[in-house]
Amino acid sequence: MFCIDTISQFSLTFIPDFNTTYFMMRRLPLLFIPFLFLASCSLFRNTADTKNKDDKKISFQILQVNDVYEITPLENGRIGGLARIATLYKQLKAKNPNTYFMLAGDFLNPSALGTLKHDGERINGKQMVEVLNVAGLEYVTFGNHEFDLKEEDLQKRLNESNFTWIGTNVDQKKGANHQPFVQIKGKDTLPTLRSKTWEISDTDGTRIKVAMLSATLKSLLPDYVHHENQFDVVHKMIPTLQAQADVLISMTHQNRDDDKKMAALEPAVCLWMGGHDHENSIDTVGKSFVTKADANGKTAYVHTITYHTDTKKTEVSSKLITIDANLAEDVETKKVVDKWLAIAAESFAKEGINPDAVVTELRTPWDAREAIVRTQPTEIASVITKAMLFAAPNANAAILNTGSIRIDDVVEGRVTEYDIVRILPFAGAIKVVEMKGSLLKKIMEAGEKNKGRGGYLAYTNLDNGLINGNMIGPEMYYFIALPEFLLKGKEANLEFLTDKNPDIKNIYSAAPENPKDLRKNLQLALIAYLKN
Ligand SMILES: [Zn+2]
Repeated sequence: MFCIDTISQFSLTFIPDFNTTYFMMRRLPLLFIPFLFLASCSLFRNTADTKNKDDKKISFQILQVNDVYEITPLENGRIGGLARIATLYKQLKAKNPNTYFMLAGDFLNPSALGTLKHDGERINGKQMVEVLNVAGLEYVTFGNHEFDLKEEDLQKRLNESNFTWIGTNVDQKKGANHQPFVQIKGKDTLPTLRSKTWEISDTDGTRIKVAMLSATLKSLLPDYVHHENQFDVVHKMIPTLQAQADVLISMTHQNRDDDKKMAALEPAVCLWMGGHDHENSIDTVGKSFVTKADANGKTAYVHTITYHTDTKKTEVSSKLITIDANLAEDVETKKVVDKWLAIAAESFAKEGINPDAVVTELRTPWDAREAIVRTQPTEIASVITKAMLFAAPNANAAILNTGSIRIDDVVEGRVTEYDIVRILPFAGAIKVVEMKGSLLKKIMEAGEKNKGRGGYLAYTNLDNGLINGNMIGPEMYYFIALPEFLLKGKEANLEFLTDKNPDIKNIYSAAPENPKDLRKNLQLALIAYLKN
């Protein structure tokens, strides 16, 4: 089993009705482009004139998306949208029945819609599963955000899925043991797969086997997940798969450097379809590709994988396709999307949110990725803490647990009320806490210890032991605006911060008689501040 040298793998055949295609060289040096086109033409001619007699090769296609949190198009309908991706999938499948739709992890959470309640329960990714089922998704792997869900909620999503889950290095803990997660379908309990091997054939009778595995990164995982080092597990599994199959591919959910490292260690795998990173990328490692599409289905990768039966070599050509209005929305998928939009509209109306209303237009993007907001001061955290002071003008300073910023993405351009809900999906109240300076210092120290976690704190008017430029007096009392969540003692290293703490003198809440009191809802406070 070999992967053919990758320079020719950049080759692309022109499919005439993909006039919206953006080829993957978006991130390649311009120098390469003329070569790529030349290589593609010869490949195209070869396939065209060998119909029905054995051409000693077989091709299959994969539509790859990753990190999809939204069911609708973004940026005012301009880009993305699962109903458009469903159309692309149908088009590809019409050209080659050996076409598979895959998602390389992160889709059940976070989303604004997922945090809403429907039928007495939080939606928690149910909308995604329903839409992806009808869009025809076939394979997924576990991303870290799948494990944001409580165990019973993830189980429901697994049961509702009509697609196949591959979890090579993640299991469900069962007491002292662990076993693959399961999908319960009526009376049947089906384990999720550690790998999948299947046969494909074409019209001239060529048959080959394809094997796929996955890799999921280690992150802060809940207690019910058993994680094994993905490098070790993948390495152990590959010889078995090599014995079973002609072509090896993988879906991964880990950072790009780890993908490249893995690809270098495991040259038998020709294609690594990655997730976790939100920007498209393609890397050539030895003779293999590592690819990531843009998050939220803004783009999708289409891979054409050709196996040559005479030389036993595999050729991969990959192109990145922009998902926009040039792709019509698939009617069946759109129906399910619309159903969920109607549910969302009803819930938002109850909260006083108008999803389409524009709040502001950003000149510089807000980097709200978790890896950023949970490790360093950011513009977005600063804006939110200022909005808290806007809602509570009598407070001396504001503190935010950065884990409340859940969008895990870069926010650009026009920001709507819906985007605000995506940024801060849990619409808690703002409390003003009259507390001793000694407690305030202790909170700030804990915030530093929480670097990398949701309990990493952001501030306005607080800095290095100073409040509004003055030393914090340990015996003095200050008025500090906080999200109500922070008073529950549920944040790591901040268990002492509850309404029972003896260094808290008073807690002030939104005035119930004043419906305009912005302290009642952090989302509304942020919307009002940005509009102001
Ligand atoms: Zn991820």
